Amino acid sequence: MIKIFGYVRESTVQQAFFGYNIEEQKRVITEYCKYHYQDYELEIFTEMGKSARSLNRPELQNLLDTVKKAKADKVVFHSLDRLTRDIKDLYMLIEFFDKNKIELVSVMESLDLSTAIGRSHVFNSGVYAQLESERTSERTIRAYKQAIVEGKYPFPRCPLGYDKIDKKLYPSEDKQQLEIINFIFSNIASNTLNYVEVSEQIKKKFNYIMKDDTVRDTVNNKLYIGVMEYRGIVNENYCEPLVSKEVFEKAIKNCKVKKKSHWRVNYLFKNKVTCGNCRCMMIQTSGKGKYKKVYPYYRCPVCKRYASEDKLLEENKVYLQKLTNEYFNDSSGLNEKKSELEKIKKKQKNLTENAKRDLIDVDTFYDVFIHYSSQIENLEDQIETINLKNSYFGNLDTNMQKEIINKYVTELQVSFSPKKYKSKLFYSY
Ligand SMILES: [Zn+2]
Repeated sequence: MIKIFGYVRESTVQQAFFGYNIEEQKRVITEYCKYHYQDYELEIFTEMGKSARSLNRPELQNLLDTVKKAKADKVVFHSLDRLTRDIKDLYMLIEFFDKNKIELVSVMESLDLSTAIGRSHVFNSGVYAQLESERTSERTIRAYKQAIVEGKYPFPRCPLGYDKIDKKLYPSEDKQQLEIINFIFSNIASNTLNYVEVSEQIKKKFNYIMKDDTVRDTVNNKLYIGVMEYRGIVNENYCEPLVSKEVFEKAIKNCKVKKKSHWRVNYLFKNKVTCGNCRCMMIQTSGKGKYKKVYPYYRCPVCKRYASEDKLLEENKVYLQKLTNEYFNDSSGLNEKKSELEKIKKKQKNLTENAKRDLIDVDTFYDVFIHYSSQIENLEDQIETINLKNSYFGNLDTNMQKEIINKYVTELQVSFSPKKYKSKLFYSY
């Protein structure tokens, strides 16, 4: 009688998306043994929720110990990627099984790794690199959509304020997370703080780092009223809401209003403002006014005089609009953005190809894929704005305002008289 050990594995992510069902893997192994052997004993080791990135998996280690002691004849598994995704680890495993005179069989790839031919096939023909070739982004998106319809949360990172239990989201057991969410929404809804200030306060109050963009994203995330949206799919009763619709809507509205005061802290005229009295480059600084609003200023380090960005913008708005019109009429900026968009789309495509060939792990793939998607969306928005060609400078987003200023403005000179100051904008195109 021959002793056969089977090994099956699925990670939580794969289970949800690629249908690598444990039962299916077991069935394949059992059928294979029935077909190939007559007198045998089969024992299958089941690994749940572990990725193949490392060999440090309890059931795999258990298998390695057991096959050695039990003097197993064969180890059968569904496909190579169940065993490991790392070619170096595969070498090690093959060596181990070789040393213990155990045959290694991969059913799906019809490989007998105990033979030299089987091994050279794995290492030389690129079979290994082409595993899971059916794993395309299309399939991923479909699986994501399906998960969302079913009320499951398919993404790797759990949103703040929620815990993922059995693939679904529930209000977090961690009280601090709930407090932070409440802090964000209540302060922004009541207009006490803007999202930049909320970000600063979260660090002070909760010793938790949350970038201001993340705060803004949180306020805009309908998940917190229990609604999930993903690529046209909407699940209205997705999870338990953490804030009321009323508070949520107020917060969203205020977050949009605050966006304008935020771009001002970005110093639109960075490294462009000079002092007309002493010819020094003026330094950006900021002061807090009423309602904790942040006002950006430029300061001459020699003359110790200040000029407010609001006033500089107001004084030069006619010129800035002129530059904006020029920017939108000149297609070079548009072409740059278009080629950048193509580059990122290509990167995303390559990423998908690499995922198909199993060159990167699943979690990284999802994260980077989503990152590229948001970059693409952002660029497409900007291209759309440029195509409109009738934009008002004050309505553009900060990045575009800065881009226009950086492209054309050579200097913004401020001249101080004892009680007043005046500015003059120099530009070229
Ligand atoms: Zn000066």
